[in-house]
Amino acid sequence: MSTFKIPFNKPYIIGNELEYIKQSVGLGKISGDGYYSRKCQEYFEKRYGFKKCLLTTSCTDALEMAAILTNVQPGDEVIIPSYTFVSTANAFALRGAKIVFVDSMAEYPNLNAETLENYITERTKVIVPVHYGGVGCDMKKIMNIAQKHNIFVVEDAAQAIDAFYNNKALGSFGHLSTFSFHETKNIISGEGGMLVINDDRFIKRAEIIREKGTNRAAFFRGEVDKYGWVDIGSSFLPSDIIAAFLYAQLERLDEIQEKRISIRDQYYKSLKPLADLKKIYLPDEKYIRENNGHLFYILCKSENERAALIKHLKNNSILAVFHYLSLHKSKFYKTFGNRGKLPNSDKFTNRLLRLPFYFELTLSEQNFVIDKISEFYE
Ligand SMILES: *Cc1c(COP(=O)(O)O)cnc(C)c1O
Repeated sequence: MSTFKIPFNKPYIIGNELEYIKQSVGLGKISGDGYYSRKCQEYFEKRYGFKKCLLTTSCTDALEMAAILTNVQPGDEVIIPSYTFVSTANAFALRGAKIVFVDSMAEYPNLNAETLENYITERTKVIVPVHYGGVGCDMKKIMNIAQKHNIFVVEDAAQAIDAFYNNKALGSFGHLSTFSFHETKNIISGEGGMLVINDDRFIKRAEIIREKGTNRAAFFRGEVDKYGWVDIGSSFLPSDIIAAFLYAQLERLDEIQEKRISIRDQYYKSLKPLADLKKIYLPDEKYIRENNGHLFYILCKSENERAALIKHLKNNSILAVFHYLSLHKSKFYKTFGNRGKLPNSDKFTNRLLRLPFYFELTLSEQNFVIDKISEFYE
């Protein structure tokens, strides 16, 4: 239990989660790729036009699968925004890749596609755009650059479920895309994730890598008469219990999104006056309208001011958090040498603050948070 009256995040049960878990046990198969795993995968394929979906145990695992599938070798370069979660980079570092960090845009944490081409070399193998807060990166430009230089695109769409770019679902642009159903995301299963495969060439191998390097999936479809070890891989598939929980959430996805969008709009509307007074900074309205209600952030004037605001909120039993310490400045990345200056990434690292945001957040709780922020700036 959180000790805060208003925690930062709160997992929730919306409907049939526990019932479906019970049913999946009753069906006699709770290991991976059972009844609910297939239901979830079909749901995503149909609703968002993804070519092939495979549930994974996390977005981290889906990223690791993507790194194996794109055949990243030691010394290959992978372009990643510095302002992202560790897993985005770590998945490729595990394969021996040289991570090339790029900066965010000045006005939003997404990577700056304008300067992306400057970072491409002979060894560039993959670009990983991260759709921060469910706002699409400039996928038109990124896909054009990738095509021109023969580079793979893996979308880190961990935060981007039910989010769109030019009316097309995020996750449907890259050769591969990854989603998260971690308890802090819009649709949850505790831990959980998904690999989306939009390029046919990867489908067969993805199934093998996900099943410990065996052709077990083909065996169950009756395509081969025995299964064995055919490639590298690991156990990337979740229990059907996880999928059962997830499917109950998918059944109510529209309702979940509607609620989250209303939380987003309430924060924006109520905090806009403070931003107009230049007490805080908010992303441009277009980034609010385009996002999927995953998170809401404000930018404080300085790191010190942010610390003081967090303290003020804590004193009122509200937990607000910041995240992403620029990866190009991380302790681990120092071992790679070669660290350029990425000022926008540092700006978001130092000044961004996320506000409480979860399905069960009530309007009066939310208004309490807003009041306490206003009070701080009075
Ligand atoms: C949450 C998140 C991840 C990791 O997701 P897990 O399912 O916890 O592995 C990766 N990238 C981004 C951008 C995220 O927000």
